[in-house]
Amino acid sequence: MTTTDTPTSPATALRPGRAETDRLAARVAVPTEGRERAQVTSPLTGDVIGEVPIGTADDVEAAVARVRQAQRAWAARPVRERAAVLLRYHDLVLDHQDELMDLIQVENGKARVWAFEEIMDQAITARYYARLAPRALKPHRRLSATPGLVSTREHHIPKGVVGVISPWNYPLVLAVSDALAALVAGNGIVIKPDSQTPFTALRGFELLEEAGLPAGLVQVVTGPGRAVGTAIIDSTDYVMFTGSTATGRTIAGRAGERLIGMSAELGGKNAMVVTGDVDLDTAVEGAIVASFANTGQLCISIERIYVEAPLADAFTEAFGERARALRLGAEQAYGPEVGALASQDQLDKVRAHVDDALAKGARLVAGGRHRPDIGPLFYEPTVLTDVTPDMALHREETFGPVVAVYAVADDDEAVEQVNDSEYGLNASVYCGDTSRGRAIAGRILAGTVNVNDGYSSAWASLDAPMGGMKASGVGRRHGRGGLLKYTESRTVAVRTKLAAKLQDPTGDPDGYARRFTAILRKAKFLPR
Ligand code: NAD
Repeated sequence: MTTTDTPTSPATALRPGRAETDRLAARVAVPTEGRERAQVTSPLTGDVIGEVPIGTADDVEAAVARVRQAQRAWAARPVRERAAVLLRYHDLVLDHQDELMDLIQVENGKARVWAFEEIMDQAITARYYARLAPRALKPHRRLSATPGLVSTREHHIPKGVVGVISPWNYPLVLAVSDALAALVAGNGIVIKPDSQTPFTALRGFELLEEAGLPAGLVQVVTGPGRAVGTAIIDSTDYVMFTGSTATGRTIAGRAGERLIGMSAELGGKNAMVVTGDVDLDTAVEGAIVASFANTGQLCISIERIYVEAPLADAFTEAFGERARALRLGAEQAYGPEVGALASQDQLDKVRAHVDDALAKGARLVAGGRHRPDIGPLFYEPTVLTDVTPDMALHREETFGPVVAVYAVADDDEAVEQVNDSEYGLNASVYCGDTSRGRAIAGRILAGTVNVNDGYSSAWASLDAPMGGMKASGVGRRHGRGGLLKYTESRTVAVRTKLAAKLQDPTGDPDGYARRFTAILRKAKFLPR
C-alpha cells in the first residue's frame, strides 16, 4: 500500500479521555483558581484533549521553594535508596507502556512504533543511572602532588534544584530521562514541558512517585517558554535544555549571567554517507528509519544523504520506492509507520521547505504532499534530489519527513559535505567494509556517529556521551558525565603532620625549595 492510496484511518475516540487529562492537569504546580488555561489539541485529529493552567514566574518561584524543601531530605538518603526508586520506575514504565504510548501518541501525533522507542529509552536510562550512581557518586581518591603526605578525595554533591525545559518531539524521553540522572544524583526538579505535550510528562513523574520518589521533589509548571522558562533559569541551580538552537542561545546567555551551569541539546542537520560497497537493501532500510522515524521530528534524524556516485541512482530509486510504500495513519495501535506532524507550525515549515526547493528546481522523488484526508497534520515522507545551496532546506533544519539525496565522488567529498554545516549533532555511515566506516566516522564533526545504523545505536549506548558539536549543543547527556554534570565537585585534601612540617615554606625557604626540587625530580619517575 502506498502513501498515495492509503485509505483514511477513521479517527476513533482518542485515548486517554478528558477525565484522565483533567486528573493529570490537577498535578501541575500552578494554582487553578482564577487562572487562564491553555488548550491542548491532538495532532492526530485536531481535537482538544485537555487543558492546563498557564503558569507565571511567581508560580515557578513557589515551585522552586517547595522543591528546595523536599530536596534536602532526598539528598540525605543513601544513593542506593535513590537508585532503587529508578529501578522500580523501570518496571512501572514497562507495565504501563500502553497507557504511556496512548498519551505520547495523542499529544505528539507520532506512530505507535516510535512511541515504543520512548518506553525503551526510559527503561535503559533508569537501569543505567540506577547502576552507575552508587559507584560514580561515592567519594573517589585522587592523586595529590605529594602522595602519602596529602590524601585527597573528590566528593560529588547535588546541585540542588535542576531546571528542565523540554520540547514536544519526545515528550517522555526529553522530560523524564534527563531528570532521572539529576534525581539519582540527589537533586529536585522543576520542569517546564512544552505546552503541547504536558500530559506525558505529568504521568511519567506520577509514575516516579508511585516508584517511591518523595512528593514535592518534582514540580511540573506549564506555561509559555518566555515567562516560565525564563523564571526557571532565574531560580534554579542548573538548567538542562532540549530544543532549538535559537532558544538555546537565549537560555545560555541568561544562565551565563547567573553563572549557573547548563547543558543544551539543540538542533541538527544530520547527514548520512552511503559508500559504493554497501548492501543496497540494508542501506535503503537504514535510511528509511533514519529519515522518517517519528515523522522526521527527531533531533538526530537524517536530512541529507551523500551516496557514492556509481550507486546514487539505484539508491535514490529504491529509497523513493520504499518511502512511497510507508503507511501513514492516525491509529493509536501498531501498524502505521508514519504519524502526524506535531503542530501547524511544523506543517507550515515542512511545506515551505519543500515548496521552496521545488520552485528552485529540485526533483521530487517521493512524497511532497500534505494529506488532510488522514488527519489535519499529515505529510508524506518526501525524498528530493538536485537540491542546491540556494534552497532553504540545503542547510536549514527542516525537522520533518524530508530528505535530500546527493551524489559524491568519494569518501573525501562525502566527509567535506557532511562537515560543511553549522551543526554537528549526529551522523551515519552505511558501508560494506566497517573499517572504512570507522575511518569515515573518525573524520566527521558530530557528537555521535553511527556506522550501519541511523541514530539509535549511539543514542542507546547509554555509557557513552551524547550531544552536539558546534551549534548543536553545549555539554552532553548520557554516560558518567551525564550524571556528574548535576553535581558540584568538592575536593577534600587532608595533610599529615609530617607534611605540614616538610611543606612549611617559612623559616627555611632555601631548604624548602631544595627539598621540593628533589621531590619533584623523583616524582617524575613514580608510577601514576
Ligand atoms: P523550542 O526551542 O522552540 O522549545 C523548546 C522548549 O523551550 C519548549 O518547552 C519551549 O516552551 C521553551 N522555550 C521557548 N522559548 C523559551 C525562552 N525564551 N526561554 C526559556 N524557554 C523557552 O524548540 P522546539 O521547536 O519545541 O523543538 C524542536 C527543536 O528541538 C529542534 O531544533 C530539534 O532539533 C531540537 N531538539 C534537539 C534535541 C537534542 O537532543 N539535541 C532533541 C530534541 C529536539
